[in-house]
Amino acid sequence: MVRRIDTYLEQLLPDEKLAFYESVRDFADAEIAPHLLQWERDHRLVPDECIQAMGQLGLFGLPIPEEFGGQGGDHTDLVLMGLAIGYHSQSVAITPGAAISLGAKPILLCGSEEQKKEHLPALARGERMFVFGLSEPGRGSDAANPEVTAVKQGDKWVINGEKCWSTNAAWASHVVVHALTDKDAPNGKRSTCFIVPMDEKGVFYQEMQGKKVWEQSSTGSIMFENVEVPHDAILGNENEGFKVMVTTLNGGRLFIAALALASLAFGLDKCRIYAEEREQFDNKPIGRFQRVQDVIVDMDIALERGITWLMHCCNLYEQNKLAREQAAKVKVDCSRTASELIALGMEICGGVACFDEFGLIRHHNDLFVTRVGEGSNFVLKDLIVRPLRGR
Ligand SMILES: Cc1cc2nc3c(=O)[nH]c(=O)nc-3n(C[C@H](O)[C@H](O)[C@H](O)COP(=O)(O)OP(=O)(O)OC[C@H]3O[C@@H](n4cnc5c(N)ncnc54)[C@H](O)[C@@H]3O)c2cc1C
Repeated sequence: MVRRIDTYLEQLLPDEKLAFYESVRDFADAEIAPHLLQWERDHRLVPDECIQAMGQLGLFGLPIPEEFGGQGGDHTDLVLMGLAIGYHSQSVAITPGAAISLGAKPILLCGSEEQKKEHLPALARGERMFVFGLSEPGRGSDAANPEVTAVKQGDKWVINGEKCWSTNAAWASHVVVHALTDKDAPNGKRSTCFIVPMDEKGVFYQEMQGKKVWEQSSTGSIMFENVEVPHDAILGNENEGFKVMVTTLNGGRLFIAALALASLAFGLDKCRIYAEEREQFDNKPIGRFQRVQDVIVDMDIALERGITWLMHCCNLYEQNKLAREQAAKVKVDCSRTASELIALGMEICGGVACFDEFGLIRHHNDLFVTRVGEGSNFVLKDLIVRPLRGR
């Protein structure tokens, strides 16, 4: 069975990019898909051997330049990896996805030459992993004003507070902490980013319990108790931490859109095949009913539109022309449309869609994260409306 998403990607991608997508797709089919159900039922995070296998494929170093030991690829490769692995599991795809788009990218985009030399080769090999410490228990959407503080003491900074929702925390070697450094400065200029090793004295991590989405992905709380770091731990410039975070999120939102489309692509294939297999009334397939066809056709339209739009945004991103609101728009639309359609897709399949082994419920649950992660859709509309109001 040819996946519908492959038909569209074949039309949109140059040969080299298509070959890369197909190689990751084949890896995910062989090494991830057959084990997923058991990992879910055993409540396991992505197993170490799977992380190592993804590392051997070079997935942790995709957009890192070859001079730093990476694959020398681009952001589009990262998005294609998200489509290929996310087709089976968003929570496996987000592991290398966040390691790059939220972990390595801040160093690539805002790091000094010394920081790049120190961290990028190990990040590319998957031996180090950085997590993105923006969200806090009391600061989600209002991320520009962290409650975590960093206070200058002589030639050091002392960090206190708590970060949460940190993807990949279980495997992290370092966390990029977004901390308040000048509470009296204008909004957006009050914070600084620091690179903090997870084994630094005073850093404590625990896995957040009870999460029923992205179940194979690690999501941690990280506490900081009088953690001392040197001045050169600053990433970017002092009091420009929010700029580091926002710059990083532009590319991250394209990856989230890819995860949403990957789930939609899986849902479309599952529903169209099941609709031809399942027979009701006169032993004929339910796929002959127009109301069933309606949902399948809407999924197909949304997939073709979303993939075409996402590839367009990737092209703009590679040329440094992607506006923040454009990344936000494609993320908002793909996540909202895919999650609405997957619920309808489940409905046309009937009761069988409740079962984990049918696969749709996993994507249904994971799609929720694409609506709130990397900026909730409602909050992102504030960004999208600005140019419409001439601001
Ligand atoms: C599985 C998962 C992984 C994550 N990984 C990371 C990570 O690696 N690093 C990280 O830093 N964060 C991470 N996050 C956090 C994520 O970015 C936040 O959940 C998101 O920014 C929203 O913040 P919040 O959940 O605190 O919601 P809140 O800020 O409390 O907002 C709740 C809701 O209120 C509404 N709302 C709030 N403000 C406004 C407004 N101005 N206008 C309109 N509506 C508004 C929206 O509907 C919003 O969804 C992760 C989250 C999840 C679920």
